[in-house]
Amino acid sequence: MVNKSFWFNMLLIPTFVEQFTTMNSKEFRATAHQFVDWMADYLEQIEELPVRSQVKPGEIYNQLPENPPQEPESIQTIFEDFKRIVVPGMTHWQHPKYFAYFPANSSYPSLLAEMLTATMGAQGMLWETSPAATEMEERVMNWLIDLLQLPKNWDGCIQVSASSSTLVAIISAREKYSGYTTNKKGVHQPLTVYASEHIHSSIEKAVRLAGMGSDNYRAIGVDQNFAMRPDLLETAIKDDIANGKKPACVVVAIGTTSSTAVDPLKQIAEICQRYDIWLHVDAAFAGTAMVLPEHRHQINGVELADSFVFNPHKWMFTNFDCSAYFVKDKDVMIRAFSILPEYLKTRNDDTVINYKDWGIQLGRRFRALKLWFVIRNFGVTGIQERLRTHIMLAENLEAEIRETADFELLSPRYFCLLCFRYRPTDKELTEEALNALNARIVGQLNDSGELFLTHTKLNGKYTIRLCIAQTNVNATHVKEAWALIRKVARQ
Ligand SMILES: *Cc1c(COP(=O)(O)O)cnc(C)c1O
Repeated sequence: MVNKSFWFNMLLIPTFVEQFTTMNSKEFRATAHQFVDWMADYLEQIEELPVRSQVKPGEIYNQLPENPPQEPESIQTIFEDFKRIVVPGMTHWQHPKYFAYFPANSSYPSLLAEMLTATMGAQGMLWETSPAATEMEERVMNWLIDLLQLPKNWDGCIQVSASSSTLVAIISAREKYSGYTTNKKGVHQPLTVYASEHIHSSIEKAVRLAGMGSDNYRAIGVDQNFAMRPDLLETAIKDDIANGKKPACVVVAIGTTSSTAVDPLKQIAEICQRYDIWLHVDAAFAGTAMVLPEHRHQINGVELADSFVFNPHKWMFTNFDCSAYFVKDKDVMIRAFSILPEYLKTRNDDTVINYKDWGIQLGRRFRALKLWFVIRNFGVTGIQERLRTHIMLAENLEAEIRETADFELLSPRYFCLLCFRYRPTDKELTEEALNALNARIVGQLNDSGELFLTHTKLNGKYTIRLCIAQTNVNATHVKEAWALIRKVARQ
């Protein structure tokens, strides 16, 4: 029997739901407008914030309650806490004085596209689960092939990161050179992988994750410009073959993380051809510069490679994450990654792309949309202009550093990264003392909140790394940064 209080409760439920748990559409609309205002204010006023977060370890964690709330909390309350607790704990990557690591650039068109992507909340594992997500990805990857002048018959797809792109390349090579037996039997023969000693750590990590073992990974020596030495590579390959191993993959860096050194791609590609080895190109940061005709020669010979990765989420104004991975023979990759349980079969499997077979995870975000927005809204010339500005700013600062007696450049400049250190002229300091001094300078600069830069070590020397590639960086920002660096160093 249905009593009166049952109906009473039924009447209450929708009101309760609307008011507290899920917002209603009207409230969502109002709050979203408020958030957009906050977003625009944040980006407009970002230069007033300390670039690197100034909080201490544990400071944010301890401000967050030990237990989740039992009762619904209003978005306004949560938003107030976001501003009060979260924002001070953020390092502001979109600050134009962000010179650290490599950038993770965003831009207005990218941000707007992400709002639409999040709104539709689609998951593009199969063509059928959102044909537009798949087909736009195919089209936009072909645009990038055109922009970077990669071979026209290659195929591309978006991966989470350069690390996962490289893992896909190394697993593809592993399958190919084990005669497609490893997926079934497990790793059962020694396959070796080669990269310069300056390559990103993600290469050795991929070798480990692919089950091939760090013992089968070779770090090849570099020349005075920190580029891989082909002669040492060939010697290592010959040694391994003589010891019964099968060289499976060489990774070339176009723009190493330490100093953006460029490995000699063409020479290395010819070695790979000679010994039948998969050649993967890691251009995570610098790949974007191939949009500039004056830089494209740096990947001459790429047509001899098997795969290539670069991150639009670093220097192409497309917010994290968006890594563009290209392959010469997609069938090798699909053979390595495809697995088809009954519940994922669709009527169109023979005629469409199902990107689930092109990488590690099943589910995929609709990331092509933001790239489409960025490329269209900047236009190719807009992207080129921005990149040329960054490179020109770096060129100018390079000239200034060269002319400043108590500073020295520690590597050649290839793109927009400068590697240098302070070296006082009035006293003779040991290398150890210089390292400690420069580490102190970097620490003090970053503690000031005025800018954010990082370091590396080149030939044992502590090296200040300053990367001029943030979307909105201009000459004033660089000038002020350089003035502060000199001031702090000389104190
Ligand atoms: C940044 C970088 C990576 C790693 O990129 P993720 O997308 O964060 O995995 C790999 N290689 C090079 C040369 C890089 O600069």
